[in-house]
Amino acid sequence: AIPLVVAVSSAIGARNGLLIRNRGPFERARNIDAIVFDKTGTLTKGEFGVSDVVVFDENMQEEEILSYAASIESDSEHPIAKGILNSAEPGYKVENFSAISGKGAQGTVNGKDVKVVSPAYLEVDGISYPGEKLKEISSQGKTTVFVLIDEKAVGAIALEDVVRPESKEAVGKLKEMGIKCFMLTGDQKQVAERVAGQIGLDDYFAGVLPDEKASRIKEVQERGLIVAMVGDGINDAPALAQADVGIAIGAGTDVAVETADIVLVKSNPLDVLAIMELSKATYSKMV
Ligand code: ADP
Ligand code: MG
Repeated sequence: AIPLVVAVSSAIGARNGLLIRNRGPFERARNIDAIVFDKTGTLTKGEFGVSDVVVFDENMQEEEILSYAASIESDSEHPIAKGILNSAEPGYKVENFSAISGKGAQGTVNGKDVKVVSPAYLEVDGISYPGEKLKEISSQGKTTVFVLIDEKAVGAIALEDVVRPESKEAVGKLKEMGIKCFMLTGDQKQVAERVAGQIGLDDYFAGVLPDEKASRIKEVQERGLIVAMVGDGINDAPALAQADVGIAIGAGTDVAVETADIVLVKSNPLDVLAIMELSKATYSKMV
């Protein structure tokens, strides 16, 4: 049987937008030593807007680059795809769309292979581009994706996301309690550095591919720490499962929500503190 205090706490939690799905992890929440937060959609709003377009191919124009990108992204669920579609109309018919997990999206337009990808994709495939054109944008810590046509970089698109105001407050309070706060992201280093600095995180892991996210959690656990993971995306599900306490942001994907031990319905990072307090209150009453 469920002890009465736990049942009461679950009801109080639910009323305040804290859904407790698994009791073991909820009990562990009072002893958390470290929290690993996903970046996009968790610490940030995940609402990207295009800030710059850089053209590499002299035969093309900014609008064309954006139009190709928007066409490819019209079948993608990624926050970057939504950001591009907020700023541009898809101008081309796309065949054979597919996502490149943690790296981008691709499809065929007029018989040509078109991709929208991360800087890491270019590195791995040895694709070059005029770097000096991107220097200023990179130093500003914006998220940059590249548009490739037949594996040639024709341009780049820079996007900006907004940090949730509650993220900084939550991390500040957690650090006061002696809890280490980390960030995990597939995004590039400069972006991670900017966001980590803005929020005051202890450390971050950048350029992490989806299948590596769970290993990063394991590494932190191997330091002897009880680790919570807070995430929102499909990519976060294995990491949420690996963590001692898996916490999903309510506005996240179904996969993250279904894998998590606890769901923060209001998508507010401050609710991580509320869960910890509720766990303490609940289990200190039980002997
Ligand atoms: P995060 O961990 O921040 O949620 P992801 O693992 O989903 O990010 O993606 C990592 C990186 O891969 C992104 O920062 C972006 O560069 C690239 N990427 C992934 N999906 C797309 C897409 N649909 N369009 C463009 N870029 C993408
Ligand atoms: Mg995310």
